[in-house]
Amino acid sequence: MAVKKWVYLFEEGNKDQKDLLGGKGANLAEMTNLGLPVPPGFIITTQACNAFSAGGKFPAGLMKQVTAALKRVEKETGKSFGDPTNPLLVSVRSGAKFSMPGMMDTVLNLGLNDETLRGIIELTGNARFAYDAYRRFVMMFSDIVLSNDYPALKKEHFEHIFGDLKCKVGANQDTNVAAEDLQDLVAKFKAYFRKQTGYDFPDEPQQQLRLAIEAVFKSWHNPRAITYRTVEKIPHDLGTAVNVQTMVFGNMGEDSGTGVAFTRDAATGEAKLYGEYLMNAQGEDVVAGVRTPVPISHLQEQNPKIYKQFEAIARKLEKHYRDMQDIEFTIERGKLWILQCRNGKRAPAAAIKIAVDQANEKLITWQEAVLRVQPSQLEGAMHPRLKDGSKVKPIAKGLNAGPGAAAGKAVFDADTAARLGKGGRGDQVILVSAETTPDDIHGMLAAQGVLTSRGGRTSHAALVARQFGIPTVCGAGEISINAAKRLFTVGDLTIKEGDWITIDGTTGMVYRGQLPIEKSAVTCEFATLMEWADRARRLMVWANADTPQQAAEAVKNGTQGIGLCRTEHMFLGDRVPIVQRMILATDDKARQQALDQLLPLQKADFVGIFKAMEGRPVVVRLIDPPLHEFLPNHAELQREVYALRIMDPGGKKLAKAEELLKAVERMHEANPMLGLRGCRLSIVFPQIVVMQVSAIIGAACELAKAGKEVNPKIMIPLVGHVNELTALRGQLEQVAKDTMKAAGVKVNYKFGTMIEIPRACLVADQIAREAEFFSFGTNDLTQMTFGISRDDAGGFLPAYIEKKIYKEDPTVSIDEEGVGKLMVMCVTDARAANAKIELGICGEHGGDPDSVKFCHRIGLDYVSCSPKRIPVARLAAAQAALMEKKA
Ligand code: PEP
Ligand code: MG
Repeated sequence: MAVKKWVYLFEEGNKDQKDLLGGKGANLAEMTNLGLPVPPGFIITTQACNAFSAGGKFPAGLMKQVTAALKRVEKETGKSFGDPTNPLLVSVRSGAKFSMPGMMDTVLNLGLNDETLRGIIELTGNARFAYDAYRRFVMMFSDIVLSNDYPALKKEHFEHIFGDLKCKVGANQDTNVAAEDLQDLVAKFKAYFRKQTGYDFPDEPQQQLRLAIEAVFKSWHNPRAITYRTVEKIPHDLGTAVNVQTMVFGNMGEDSGTGVAFTRDAATGEAKLYGEYLMNAQGEDVVAGVRTPVPISHLQEQNPKIYKQFEAIARKLEKHYRDMQDIEFTIERGKLWILQCRNGKRAPAAAIKIAVDQANEKLITWQEAVLRVQPSQLEGAMHPRLKDGSKVKPIAKGLNAGPGAAAGKAVFDADTAARLGKGGRGDQVILVSAETTPDDIHGMLAAQGVLTSRGGRTSHAALVARQFGIPTVCGAGEISINAAKRLFTVGDLTIKEGDWITIDGTTGMVYRGQLPIEKSAVTCEFATLMEWADRARRLMVWANADTPQQAAEAVKNGTQGIGLCRTEHMFLGDRVPIVQRMILATDDKARQQALDQLLPLQKADFVGIFKAMEGRPVVVRLIDPPLHEFLPNHAELQREVYALRIMDPGGKKLAKAEELLKAVERMHEANPMLGLRGCRLSIVFPQIVVMQVSAIIGAACELAKAGKEVNPKIMIPLVGHVNELTALRGQLEQVAKDTMKAAGVKVNYKFGTMIEIPRACLVADQIAREAEFFSFGTNDLTQMTFGISRDDAGGFLPAYIEKKIYKEDPTVSIDEEGVGKLMVMCVTDARAANAKIELGICGEHGGDPDSVKFCHRIGLDYVSCSPKRIPVARLAAAQAALMEKKA
């Protein structure tokens, strides 16, 4: 059997082979073929990684192909691997299809040993540089390749040894440590290695290469990479490619350097080079945030020729890839090398500006611009900002690495942030740390914001933060963090764990205390993008809104109607006593009296909402929850009754409490979600919905009389049998007619139902003949299709997701296979029975981008979601329409 091709030279690949060669490898190949200065190398495929994962060993032929590829690289560079006189050193880097910054492993300077080191010293005449490379290699190789088996080989132990040496020789910067001290350090590192492992540091280059490739393969399965993929919804079975590339050195002296730059500003989207670099340094110094680099604009003064060359390459790459690029470069003794390019990650606001600008520049089409912005980025773009930031004196300033303002209690490690923050106790926390590493991702996601004292805009902290829209200030050097004591100081001021601080990731300022924060204004690019999205989409976007304020916000966000007004919300607040009187009434007259009191209040609510909607459709859902939800909690009431029996026996208060308790006990249901709620309640106690329909139609008549346009739609919840709808509709149509007659005016209204019981989907044809519209209540439909309780699912859903029993949380995104199948059946049968029927969705899924796209595909007329998510739904709907055209 022919052996598979596991290894590709850069010359053999291209940018469209990301599945096979990973993003980094495919782009290195593309850039090589574009004629850019890329250090020669080759790529081991993702298939090889998967074969390794499956079999636990390298697939047959892999190392043979690696050796052959290495020979070609040797030929091209004129150097050879392991040759003491002219040694080739390589980097071994991971590179999956989708970029996962810092999540997997990289080893640099591979091929170094005592002999090749001598060659490097001779060739460069720079012993300091050579020993610096060597000590980095020993540390990195030990950490990446062997620290799983020997935890004492983790990087920090070597850093510690280096720290001691720096103290001893009085060096405050790495660059101040002399060659002979570095030589001594390498010896110390190797002795430490031997002590921990019982054997010598592997000196043989071929063995180093083999072990490093294996480590990169294995790093695909490390916990931080798994977390990252889960959050980013990257499939776990893609595997990583391995890039083996000739080393070039940014730390060969002051005419060398290294940096990362974006072709546009990744924070704001402005069309200018954005990034930073460090002279006499290696890439890891920039990316890991160990030293704080200088802005790329300084290169223009420091080395105008290289800057110009880099600018031209950046332009060429952006034009070639038709997107903003993130480029890693190294200058080795005055020669520029490009080490990597990829589509640059960008802050949400930048994503919008870049897409719109590039469409205006005719680099991409407006349709592509709409497809370029992730709905989640759009959400992030509506960034919070400080209300009166300029008036308050900051306590420190760092880099504006992740835009947006955030306030929270300072915490000093990722685990504490995860425990106290989002997903944990739910406190607002700011993660404060000297620097963050990819291991801290769980804490960053749980925090409102991140503050670091070290690191630059392209450090991992900054990349991850921007991507997730977490406000972040990096490299705030004035603050001095004492993680052990759980505090930081700045000047005389001490901020302890639990003290409030506010950060502004847009300006880089740090403030003491909790400052007021407001949502950001919508930019003109945002408005343009929304305009284009509206041009592309077919699906209407409506809002779930229960108050005139929410309705007004929804209109501002571009709603075309209200798809769900939950009227029971109007029974809360100061109206509860009236509602309780209605529930506790022992005869019809007393009940009617309470309802008569509620009628004008509800009518006024509807007038307010209809006015705010200015003639757009408003779907008003009649009362849904069981009545005991308006009564006090049973256990609390019982306690109150017991206490009153002792303290105030025979008192009025006790009589009232006992009456309430009896009612609560009478109405107790073992399973209220499946009990007397929705249309069942209306069939048993029709007076409530009669009042509600009078209020809806009464409000509509009032506005119609005043010459205003109104478009009410009355929605009956929880219908599972057509007879429920026919019975109620018959009764309520009469109420509507009577109300209009009394008002002396006619309004157009419609009757429809929610589809939230699986049976309703199965008999959709029957129900559709009696309804003018359907709205999928996917909260209940999901609950009832899965047989999981909305109230209790939180207890096991996380475990189900973690154990991959469910691929995704069905309460977040529509379960297309199950719930979705019912929906499709319902849509088909309903349309066949009633061609004019209007179909929508108003469950929480209506604002979830994937679900919106599904709703488009199955041909719904509208989605309805919370006012804040309307722009997200508009974009998702547009993307669904554009994807359909593309397919
Ligand atoms: C639903 O069930 O999806 C719905 C919108 O109704 P509620 O959440 O009010 O039950
Ligand atoms: Mg429901």
